[in-house]
Amino acid sequence: MDMPEHCPVCGQAYELQTGFYFGTGYVSYALSVAIIGVFYAVCFALGLISIYDNSVVYSLVVVSVMLMLMQPILQRLSRSIWIAFFVKYEKDARKHLSN
Ligand SMILES: [Zn+2]
Repeated sequence: MDMPEHCPVCGQAYELQTGFYFGTGYVSYALSVAIIGVFYAVCFALGLISIYDNSVVYSLVVVSVMLMLMQPILQRLSRSIWIAFFVKYEKDARKHLSN
């Protein structure tokens, strides 16, 4: 869960200000909702879940465990998306550093 302070390639600081990554909660939430949506769309399409038995309850357990196991990936992805809102990609960043 540790994160380097600077990008090893271009030197960009990752924590722009204290608490910068509090906003990743919104990104993480959106990603989780999207994953849950895809999960249920696939399960209903494949006929794995029916509203007439307990399979919906079991599917809640499965998707919850799945999201917990995906948390390290979701956290990194959310932080990447969040910082991309504020820091623009610069093709020649390294060149600017050496100047
Ligand atoms: Zn970089």
